Amino acid sequence: MSPLKKTGIMGGTFNPIHLGHLVIAEKAREQFELDEVLFMPSGIPYMKDCREVLPGQIRTKMTELAIRTNPFFSVSTMEVEREGRTYTYETLECLCGQNPDTEYYFILGADSLWHMEAWKHPERIFAASHILAAVRENKSMEEMEKQASHLREKFGARIDLLQTGQLEISSSMIRGLCREEKSIRYLVPEAVYDYIIQNKLYRK
Ligand code: ATP
Ligand code: MG
Repeated sequence: MSPLKKTGIMGGTFNPIHLGHLVIAEKAREQFELDEVLFMPSGIPYMKDCREVLPGQIRTKMTELAIRTNPFFSVSTMEVEREGRTYTYETLECLCGQNPDTEYYFILGADSLWHMEAWKHPERIFAASHILAAVRENKSMEEMEKQASHLREKFGARIDLLQTGQLEISSSMIRGLCREEKSIRYLVPEAVYDYIIQNKLYRK
C-alpha cells in the first residue's frame, strides 16, 4: 500500500493574511511532516460582520502574495468560488472524496478550538480531519489540552497541539492600524504590505 499523503489545510478569512497564519502553518508542516499546506480563504464568512470583509478575490490575491516563496504552500480557491455559505465540513468531505489517499490536517488557532463546537456538523469535521491547534491570546497549553480532551471524548476528535509560542497578531488588529493610518509593516509579508498600501485597503 502506498503511504498516505499528508496535507494541511489552513483555513481563514484572511482579511488580511498575516504572519500569525504563516507561522502556525509552517510549524504544523514541520512538526507533523506535512507534504503540503493549502491556504483556503473562506467564502462568505457567516459568523463575521460581512461589511468589513473584503471580496474573496482580493483576500485570495493577498494570500497568493503571502505564500509564493514557500514551495510547500499553495492557495485553494475552493471556498471562495463556491456559491452561498461555505461550511468547513463540506470542504473537508469534498477533499476526502476527491483524494482518498490523502490525510487532512486542519490547522487552527486556540480561539477556533473553542468555537468549532458551534460550527455546522463538528462531528463531520472531526471525522474528516486531524486538528492541529496553536496557542493564541490568553489560552494556556493546559486550558487547550483540557478543551482538546473534551472534544476527543465528545466527538472522538483527533487533536494535537502545536508548539508555536504566542504570536499576538490578528487581522482585526491590522485593520484597526490601517484605519488609524498606523504602520502594519512586519506584521504581514512585504508583498502583502505593498498591496495593502498601494490599494489603500482598510482605510476609512
Ligand atoms: P480576525 O481578527 O478578523 O478574526 P484572525 O487574525 O483571527 O482575523 P482568521 O482569518 O480569522 O484571522 O483566522 C484563521 C485561523 O488562523 C483561525 O483558526 C485563527 O485562530 C488562526 N490564527 C489567526 N491568527 C493567529 C495567531 N496570531 N496565532 C494563532 N492562530 C492564529
Ligand atoms: Mg479570527
